[in-house]
Amino acid sequence: MNFLETKYSLDKDWLLTNKNFSLEDAKNLYINLKSIINFKLNVKDFGDNFIELYTFNFNNYIFKKNPNFIKILDSLSFKENEVLNQNFNGIGDLNQFKIRPVIKTDNSYIIPLPYTVSEAIYDSPFYWMIDDKKYRNKAQKNRGDIAENIVAKLLSRKIDSKFIHSEVEVKEVKATTVTDIDICVVKDNKMLIFQVKSKRLSQLSKNGDIATFEKDFKLAVRDAHEQAILPYELILSNKCYFQYKDSGKKLELPEVNEIYSACLVLDSYPAITAHTRLFFHKEKITPIAMSIFDLEIIMEYSQGFDTLFDYFKKRTQNSKYFIADSELGFFGGYLRTKLEKRPDSDIVAFDADFAQRFDLDYYKPLMEKYEIKFPETIKNIGRNDYCFCGSGIKLKKCCG
Ligand SMILES: [Zn+2]
Repeated sequence: MNFLETKYSLDKDWLLTNKNFSLEDAKNLYINLKSIINFKLNVKDFGDNFIELYTFNFNNYIFKKNPNFIKILDSLSFKENEVLNQNFNGIGDLNQFKIRPVIKTDNSYIIPLPYTVSEAIYDSPFYWMIDDKKYRNKAQKNRGDIAENIVAKLLSRKIDSKFIHSEVEVKEVKATTVTDIDICVVKDNKMLIFQVKSKRLSQLSKNGDIATFEKDFKLAVRDAHEQAILPYELILSNKCYFQYKDSGKKLELPEVNEIYSACLVLDSYPAITAHTRLFFHKEKITPIAMSIFDLEIIMEYSQGFDTLFDYFKKRTQNSKYFIADSELGFFGGYLRTKLEKRPDSDIVAFDADFAQRFDLDYYKPLMEKYEIKFPETIKNIGRNDYCFCGSGIKLKKCCG
């Protein structure tokens, strides 16, 4: 939810015109749902009737106060008696419940897995937009631009913006363009290159179709990696110059004598680390590939450019020596041991015990930052309004 408004910031008008709600509404809806469920978990006893915990009656005060919440939930719900997954035959098939994770009954919404609502809110608008033939190209272009934007923003949390450059062309002295760099950071003769891809894995490859999968992986990671390393030699030998792609303005950079790079994707892609290891197992180096959500954590626990550069360097140089299931596995290892090789080991595998620490230390405060806004929503609720907990009963007879 933290990235939602940025992700669709160029598509705000389309959403308002075609779906009649704003991203702020969508984010607030999720904060409200999550806060209410947590409230109910803490103060109410449901006995065996757990469905009540996840039930929100239509007459709920939060819907009276924010009628747009209804429009969003309607976009994300299916009817109780609707046949939903008649094409769901194998474990890899698209589960419609991920796109519409809310069940709509005659008088209420039931949300059995609240986190799927946040995923659907994050992912679905893109699908709605590419279904609109007139808007499809614009939606795709916006997606690419925004992905770069988000990466630059994340980097600038710990690195001075004057070192971060977006959309840079690398030109040979005789003025042919060698390649485009999506984002680069240059400081103290060191350079980090980020190639940002907004390509999604298609349904076929999620189903396990190997040929489609290799093609998709190529678009999401391999192409990005090859594009990133292409200008290394020219840059290191100082035989090129840089200019901004949009303005054509020349970019003066100090001499660079060390470069590392990473491929970034905009959506959650949990298997990206495993897939990269698999598809690069014959190559000398396995590239760094991660989602923006990983980069967010890495920036949070980096002191600045030097930490980030050191991490990328060790990660690349030891890319066959250390093994982990996810980028945060490597990063957890880096925080503990700086990714130094061990004299007594041929190979080192990190387990995933880092995850609960990041959850506790980073995501919990983030959640609290949002939930604190909930009391604001219900501060004017009257005794005769229907309860915010979704029970369908008036406040005075319920949680009042
Ligand atoms: Zn109540």
